[in-house]
Amino acid sequence: MVSHTSSRASQIVGMTVLMLGLGACDSEQSSEPDSGLSVDSGAEDCQLDTASPTWLGSMQREVVGKLSGEEEIAPGVQLSDRATVSNRQRTRDYLSAELEVIGYVVERHDYGSGTNLVASLAGSTDGVYVVGAHFDSVPGSPGANDNATGVAAVLASARLMREQACSFTAELRFVFFDEEEIGLVGSRAYAAKLVQDGTRVLGVTTVDQLGWDEDGDWQIEIELAIPGEIDRVAASIARHGLSVSLLPTNTAGSDHTAFREQGFPALGITEEFVNGDTTPHYHLGSDVFDTVNFDYLASGSAVLNAYVWDLGRSADR
Ligand SMILES: [Zn+2]
Repeated sequence: MVSHTSSRASQIVGMTVLMLGLGACDSEQSSEPDSGLSVDSGAEDCQLDTASPTWLGSMQREVVGKLSGEEEIAPGVQLSDRATVSNRQRTRDYLSAELEVIGYVVERHDYGSGTNLVASLAGSTDGVYVVGAHFDSVPGSPGANDNATGVAAVLASARLMREQACSFTAELRFVFFDEEEIGLVGSRAYAAKLVQDGTRVLGVTTVDQLGWDEDGDWQIEIELAIPGEIDRVAASIARHGLSVSLLPTNTAGSDHTAFREQGFPALGITEEFVNGDTTPHYHLGSDVFDTVNFDYLASGSAVLNAYVWDLGRSADR
């Protein structure tokens, strides 16, 4: 999240709270909630078996552990933050290696002061959905919640989608942004690149801070969604048998904003940042591994996985 909370706070206007609690339901077509999203599961008889793979919890603990200095990210190296040039490079090296192990070819998007990482899963059309998170932190903060949790959610989604022996209609492009904390620099550079390349962007989803749920209600905030999009997320939750309440907000200030500025349909996923249940360790040296609620992170990640799968398989927009 951009360093001064005031920027995100001052951009919270006209917040509406809409609770969408959806009980678990089977994902067969007949009980399909009206999302306007036609998910092609017929041709290859492709279904996402689960949005919560068995490896999710242990994988996310490892990723957050290495990014936040709880564990060595390289022999003899434990990060104190992901703000310095060398620590951001070590972070990129680690993420690139993880993505390559999963089977991606990692593209580096050098834009001058920093470098984003891009890993794509091809689609049968030229439409592209971007799914991203920033990997940098503020100086002096291990950034376990902000934003190792977001990185762990996007990396998990990249892995799960890659593991499916299914083709996608739209390309799924997983992007790890640099320099979010100093003004959305990496995501703004990437949004400008998409415009320059004339990419047919169908939607952008970014994740920032998904590790705090003190009140135990599992709720997540959906930021700045275009009209109708939160219904799509809710439909994915129902379709994949999840049960999570969504809180729509008008919060700007994280990477989704950079894409909205370019006119792309983009939304942010986060913990209850404006609904009063967010980490008190925000941008502090105390934003460490032990403060992260990994069950909540896994629950929010399952929502992301369900939504991303449906987007990749959707034939419309
Ligand atoms: Zn952040």
